[in-house]
Amino acid sequence: MRAELLLAALLAAAPAWAGDEGGGVTFAARSSQSFPAPSYGAPARVLYDSGDSDPIASAWNTVLIQGYLPDPSVRFQAARASSSPRWTDMEVHRFPNGRFWARARLAEGSGAARLRALDAGISRDATVDIYSVEAFVQSPEAPPVPLPAPRGPVESGVARPFVHPRSEWKALPATEPYTPDPLPWRITLHHSDGRFTKSLAESLDEVRFIQDFHIHGRGWIDIAYHFAVDPLGNIIEARPEGTLGAHTLGNNEGNVGIVLLGTYHPPVNDHPTPAQLAAVAALGRYLVARYGIFPTALKGHRDYKITECPGDLAYVDLPQLRRALALPPAQAPAPSAPPSLRVPASFDGAR
Ligand SMILES: [Zn+2]
Repeated sequence: MRAELLLAALLAAAPAWAGDEGGGVTFAARSSQSFPAPSYGAPARVLYDSGDSDPIASAWNTVLIQGYLPDPSVRFQAARASSSPRWTDMEVHRFPNGRFWARARLAEGSGAARLRALDAGISRDATVDIYSVEAFVQSPEAPPVPLPAPRGPVESGVARPFVHPRSEWKALPATEPYTPDPLPWRITLHHSDGRFTKSLAESLDEVRFIQDFHIHGRGWIDIAYHFAVDPLGNIIEARPEGTLGAHTLGNNEGNVGIVLLGTYHPPVNDHPTPAQLAAVAALGRYLVARYGIFPTALKGHRDYKITECPGDLAYVDLPQLRRALALPPAQAPAPSAPPSLRVPASFDGAR
């Protein structure tokens, strides 16, 4: 019997990362790769070798990848590129639904990175997708930079659209106390560089995965953003409203982070759905009214730094969203009733 393992590394040509630390790593600017491998053979055979990455601008000591790993019997290793690379095993955190991240810590230094994947007893055909690769010096969340807070009229009694609470996705508690950030004056749109989810249950799983990735992978105190909006138009609570986020390096103060679940950029090319854009608009109108945020203060992550985020296919919707935010909340379509909650019993976030 012959089986195949295809390792498709969806590595975008420009930096891409879900949160806000470090830089994206590309390999010969390739955006996707497939590597067939027969299922027979000795364990520890190399299934995938990235070769040396493109040059990495700054020093790094951590390599962090995330993606989809249907068969857990794959080991990942990272090394600093050299004629005789010293491979370091990556610590893999895999959720029962196959979402995974993996991290290696190396001595700090510069130079390109290299990745490989080894067979550790693959039992079935599989396709492994690496959604993003980052290299950086791991550091705690960046301290806020005090900035003036321009503010419009505030309507304190305005109703918030329905938001699925953290308890629905079984959020872990923050690892440290939050920094209060009670009066936001800007909003930043991101994409998750992850799954375009097709049900509320899948979205809740994905948000929990992102939290695990941010806390244990990046070393942050909680998920970076304040809200996640899925393709069905569900709004999901991430970091609690009124706390300092960790989504826009150097510009987190007064900044509400909203992440669209999915990858709204080539080569994946997810498209924001009408329900999703309506939910972002409803949430945005609430934030505008509640805190006196100017609609023009809705930006994309890429307006603050070099990143693909929130993706070309979401970034084009920002002018339309700003116009929608300028409408009074009363003119907003009524938020839909909360869908019935269904969390898979098997979902435990196990490593
Ligand atoms: Zn972003």
